[in-house]
Amino acid sequence: MPLPHPFIDGHLDLALNGLALRRQITGPLEAIRAAEADNLGPFDTATVTLPDLRAGGAVMVVSSLLARCRPWRVKSGQIGVAAGDFPDQDGAYAAAAAQLAYYESLERRGEIRLVRSADELPAADAMLAPDEPLPLLAIFEGADPVRDPDDLHRWHRMGIRSLMLAHFGRSVYAHGTPAEPDDAHPNDVDGPLTDAGRRLLPEIEALRMPLDLTHLSDTALYEALDSFGGVVYASHCACRTLNPDWQRNLPDDVIQAISQRGGVIGLPLHSPFLVKGYQRDTPREACNLDHVVDHLDRLCEVSGSDAHVALGTDMDGGYGLEYTPTGVDRSADMPRLAERMSERGWSEDAIGRVFAGNWHRFWSANLPA
Ligand SMILES: [Zn+2]
Repeated sequence: MPLPHPFIDGHLDLALNGLALRRQITGPLEAIRAAEADNLGPFDTATVTLPDLRAGGAVMVVSSLLARCRPWRVKSGQIGVAAGDFPDQDGAYAAAAAQLAYYESLERRGEIRLVRSADELPAADAMLAPDEPLPLLAIFEGADPVRDPDDLHRWHRMGIRSLMLAHFGRSVYAHGTPAEPDDAHPNDVDGPLTDAGRRLLPEIEALRMPLDLTHLSDTALYEALDSFGGVVYASHCACRTLNPDWQRNLPDDVIQAISQRGGVIGLPLHSPFLVKGYQRDTPREACNLDHVVDHLDRLCEVSGSDAHVALGTDMDGGYGLEYTPTGVDRSADMPRLAERMSERGWSEDAIGRVFAGNWHRFWSANLPA
């Protein structure tokens, strides 16, 4: 294994793994894989733990609180878990609060430390000390746990520093992209911001919280770009020109708009987003590290430099090894991506910017002092 580069993972769902999947993410990955050998789906082999992230060079992670108000998806009476879909915002609020409590509990044990201000950011050019907690910035993936504009201020006081308005499907605030390219559910289609979303944007701006455009359907995304005056970015999005199967992938004009406004775009390591035509029965080998570098190259080409391109692997975001490009079987394998970038002509400095420097600059500028 090549030596690791300092690495900021711009998007993970660690609390979802800890609470909904009941994974012990503080322990070895092998233990999770062994425990789940018989009771998880065939596409969900775990790839992320805190020790694995550290082995891969992680100096910080941005990780979600994720709970949705989607009554049309709820099967009432199922055993509840602290994530997923709820019939109302009360459930989504409480689930997100539980996820924040999970991070606070990890912090109490010294596994992580929550980052709430710019001076709490780690260095982007040095590894963590072995006994140093992993810095974690908590954000919302989908804003349904924000019950009203006042609530946004409450969550901000609790340390949440950014949000996406939607996850897959319609949220209280916006239409998110459908969960499948051909998802025909009438609530999970392209559409605009809701009136509640239009009322929330000025509050986000007033709190100087960067708005993560990831997961917005096209109509809502262009409306947000037009009407939101604050900082925008995309924590985990690939390029639509390379794979038009998904609205989740950003068109070139959006990549340009985000970079021109000082934002950063993090690339997810999710094979169905990276390779056109990738489906459930596609062999894993159809997506490899060259496809990842193709998207990184394209993001640089379209945005005009390597200053707005980063990684938001999302490797624990509801999928597993089977949908992860070959070459990265776990977070500890991130140095293999750097090695492939180097073989493809990337300089060490440019790799450093994509692995950590660009996120570091972005959060330095956009967290409270
Ligand atoms: Zn996501």
